[in-house]
Amino acid sequence: MTVELYAFTCGFLTLPRTFLMKGEKGVITVPVPSYLIVHPKGRVLFDTGLHEDTVEDPASYVGDVIAKYHTFHFHKGEEISERLRSIGTDPDSINIVINSHLHFDHCGGNAQLPNADILIQTRELTHARTTGSTNGYLLTDWDTGQKVRAVDGEHDVFDDGTVVCLPTYGHTPGHQSLRVQTEKGGEYILCGDACYLKDSLEQMRTPGIIADREAALAVFRRFRDMQARGAQIMFGHDPDFWKTIPQAPVRLG
Ligand SMILES: [Zn+2]
Repeated sequence: MTVELYAFTCGFLTLPRTFLMKGEKGVITVPVPSYLIVHPKGRVLFDTGLHEDTVEDPASYVGDVIAKYHTFHFHKGEEISERLRSIGTDPDSINIVINSHLHFDHCGGNAQLPNADILIQTRELTHARTTGSTNGYLLTDWDTGQKVRAVDGEHDVFDDGTVVCLPTYGHTPGHQSLRVQTEKGGEYILCGDACYLKDSLEQMRTPGIIADREAALAVFRRFRDMQARGAQIMFGHDPDFWKTIPQAPVRLG
């Protein structure tokens, strides 16, 4: 069974450091990651980055509140559909999109994957529906018409233990991370926003903006256990860490 894992950078965002680590001053420029998993039974994307309309005029797409705190560094060709095409993968061939959560920098590309089922935690979907287009959520990002597969808690996508959704509630009420078991590189934990930075985990420091701080710390402890037994933790928005990660077309795992 060969499972392949590829990493893409779909632009960068500059935002206040305290958003990522409570109490920090200044700003930080962070990558917006997406991952492709090629499994014998299907092609999966984990998170899809920013909406293509934010290339030209982010403020009019995301609105004043998000635009006030985020500077977009996102260019034509960096959107997920083009990232896929650049490695010879047709966006129409993606079978499943797994969203860690439904903030604008994680599901903005969903509309570009028309044939994919959207796999999301029920709790996240309920929360996003209640929230509407506020607090980092935009209906136009995630309410894009594909079939939605809402799951509750841990979910083994192909029933073979290689691609498993892990509930990591805390950043948002229904956040999930993804465990990917590859032959080449072993076990990877794609954190999403459950752990932004390498320092977050080392110093057990939570973000300034968070739905449930205690739950997030419990997730950090689980990540530390996984790391101790050899899993590679893929931090969600760590610019220094990300520089060390091979990007597609080079295979990560
Ligand atoms: Zn994010």
